[in-house]
Amino acid sequence: MSPVSIHSKLPNVGTTIFTVMSALAAEHKAINLGQGFPDYAMDESLLELVEHAMRNGHNQYAHMNGYGPLRKALADKVQYLYGSRPDPETEITITPGASYALFTALATILQPGDEVIVFEPAYDCYIPQIELMGAKAVTVNLVFPNYRIDWKEVRAKITGRTRAIIVNTPHNPTGSVLTKDDMLELEAAVAGSNIIVVADEVYEHLIFDGLQHESVLKYPPLRERAFAVYSFGKVYDCTGWKLGYCIAPPALMAEFRKIHQFNAFTCDTPKQVALADFINNRGVFLGLGSRLQKKRDYFQQLMTGTRFRPLASHGSYFQIYSYDAISDEPEYDFAIRLTKEAGVATIPVSSFYRTPVDNRVLRFCFSKRDETLAAAVERLKGI
Ligand code: PMP
Ligand code: GLN
Repeated sequence: MSPVSIHSKLPNVGTTIFTVMSALAAEHKAINLGQGFPDYAMDESLLELVEHAMRNGHNQYAHMNGYGPLRKALADKVQYLYGSRPDPETEITITPGASYALFTALATILQPGDEVIVFEPAYDCYIPQIELMGAKAVTVNLVFPNYRIDWKEVRAKITGRTRAIIVNTPHNPTGSVLTKDDMLELEAAVAGSNIIVVADEVYEHLIFDGLQHESVLKYPPLRERAFAVYSFGKVYDCTGWKLGYCIAPPALMAEFRKIHQFNAFTCDTPKQVALADFINNRGVFLGLGSRLQKKRDYFQQLMTGTRFRPLASHGSYFQIYSYDAISDEPEYDFAIRLTKEAGVATIPVSSFYRTPVDNRVLRFCFSKRDETLAAAVERLKGI
């Protein structure tokens, strides 16, 4: 026993549901459609570029704001996709993953007592990060079953203490995406206020059905008050690299960098060098949505042979299914039982809520090899 004790900064928080379900999957030899990561190989040419960078001496600290040519390549990409070019010197910082970028953005802007509007179900790190800063999460439930935003409720929850709104599109866990109308509603909701928009766009390229990704960077009134956050790991099938980036206007980014310089300070150099070359080829990101849509469609087709009922997914790695025809158990219990008894791990959507909501739905990750998806669905047919 330790002779010292501390006050927990997160007394109500346990281990993340992703870690819990992955461990349970391993223990019961279940097929893991829980935690969001691909089980197929990443692009061989990107691996070769990393090896080349390492063998050519790119093994010391990169610039604190990120490897210059990578920031320039990202600025070009943003201009090509969203119509305006962030300044790589003052507006883009490479980070060790998107979670770190979100944490740093929130640390940059929040003072104790500030309020942040968060839509639930919400990706698991948002609320603990807000609370670590001494601020308060004000939640708005996305409207089941399509998980759309009720903008009237958002406007009603904005107060003089609202410091930020976090939006996430394409959305984890539901696969819903924000539309142009949503972005105009967001613009109107924050117009004339001091509210900052934190936009989690880690699945920006993973969007389906001919829809366009509505980035905050496409909307000048939002872009000038936003931190937009991205993850290389999620879009280039290398979640274990933990590399991402943040884009924000110069005054906000200057403060962000003050914190970053005393935390990670900089990120993995050879991978940044490789990514700079890799993303200069537009082909690498333009095909990602259709490749993943094929996975979604394949999975959906297989799942018609089960009693699970799909809800819409238009982006991300994820599809939600209702099991209301199978059981009325709470989501968490059902997900545990499914892992142990059927051998398929999923994520209960109720884990993405602070306020208990249980719609009898589970999140399935379809960024998996066809064989993995087929084997999982074979197991689900008996349910
Ligand atoms: N936001 C969302 C919505 C996510 O799904 C994830 C998980 N990858 C992250 C942020 C964190 O990304 P990273 O692994 O780059 O920290
Ligand atoms: N973003 C991943 C998911 O939603 C998990 C990453 C993590 O385990 N923190 O499954």
